[in-house]
Amino acid sequence: MGTKEKILCVLYDDPVTGLPKKYARNSIPKLDKYPDGQSMPSPNSIDFTPGELLGSISGELGLRKYIENSGHELIVTSDKDAKDSVFDQHLPDATIVISQPFWPAYLTAERIAKAPNLKLAITAGIGSDHVDLQSAIENNITVCEVTYCNSISVAEHAVMQILSLVRDYIPQYKWVTSGGWNIADAVSRSYDIEGMDVGVLAAGRIGLAVLKRMKPFDVKLHYSDRHRLPESVETDLNLTYHENVESLVENCDVVSIHCPLHPETEHLFNEELISKMRRGSYIVNTARGKICDKDAITKALESGQLAGYAGDVWFPQPPPNDHIWRTAPNHALTPHTSGTSLSAQARYASGVREILECWFSGKSIRDEYLIVQGGSLAGTGAHSYSAGNTTKGSDEASEFKSSN
Ligand code: NAD
Repeated sequence: MGTKEKILCVLYDDPVTGLPKKYARNSIPKLDKYPDGQSMPSPNSIDFTPGELLGSISGELGLRKYIENSGHELIVTSDKDAKDSVFDQHLPDATIVISQPFWPAYLTAERIAKAPNLKLAITAGIGSDHVDLQSAIENNITVCEVTYCNSISVAEHAVMQILSLVRDYIPQYKWVTSGGWNIADAVSRSYDIEGMDVGVLAAGRIGLAVLKRMKPFDVKLHYSDRHRLPESVETDLNLTYHENVESLVENCDVVSIHCPLHPETEHLFNEELISKMRRGSYIVNTARGKICDKDAITKALESGQLAGYAGDVWFPQPPPNDHIWRTAPNHALTPHTSGTSLSAQARYASGVREILECWFSGKSIRDEYLIVQGGSLAGTGAHSYSAGNTTKGSDEASEFKSSN
């Protein structure tokens, strides 16, 4: 190490009315460890107040002081997709790229080819599919993320959306804000979840947390994953394990998706798989937009094969203004927010600082943070991904026009 690093950090824009002058709460809870015992991000110190907005450009993930005091250069921008974007301008001499999945800087093979000095791509969050992992493998770029930092944040969002869909919350809220009191309209698609079959595709950190949170609702729980959970966990949660995704979807009323996007899962929820689901099923996808075929989802919502679709992930991001999910019937989608609550931001900003401290001082990055290292999948990457590229089509993000 010892060399001057050029760190190119892509973050989402500040709020349209500027950074909050006052926050809704005075503080966020301090957590000791993650549910499986993994320790929280542990940098030597931090230069931000946990609970404040760090993920937008003015927040700079709380990194500027540390990076500049360490003798390195920090460029922060939200301009990542337009032709000749700030991101593209700085990429040729950047040594480190930091990007958040919510506003991903797509590191395609073409971009990697233009970045000969790039050695490290850090995901400030979880999910590194915005990097062409095959190309990172071939170019010996280390890819890492802040594993666990927002897994519980996402699980909470998924549970909220499962309940919102089945009970049909959003249309009911709209009756209130429009001044109505139309009970029959408001309940004509509303059901209880009690007794339903609820399944997760992938029971990793997020999927397992969703199963645990759904148990008290007295539903029948199902899962499928390429790694089977310990028998004690299956017994505790009374889980039905499915060898494959077909068996899972055929036996569920609600399916929540929690696997990473990699070549095995790209467009997995296509017309054929959705046709195997029970009529009137619900899908919640907080994993990655591209795991679902956008046209197949829309068609199933229109025909009633799906009673509802929710989640927070789209492809590309930001999605073009005419993305068909924006106007599809019976959806309850949000922008990609579940993993970037103010609580999550504090954890991933600390995790990025921890990774940089390790990198600058030549120490190894925690194994659980690694996706690619030394020319192959490593750590969590080896456990949860398969090699390959899923960034194709990301250039469509340049078609988004902010309405503000
Ligand atoms: P994790 O590594 O703990 O779990 C991933 C699980 O997926 C593993 O158990 C793995 O075995 C399983 N899996 C991989 N490929 C599979 C396949 N083909 N079929 C079945 N199972 C498969 O990761 P996590 O923390 O639970 O996060 C999962 C994903 O959620 C991330 O990769 C990311 O894409 C997404 N995520 C989204 C947000 C958000 O803000 N919406 C935030 C964090 C993570």
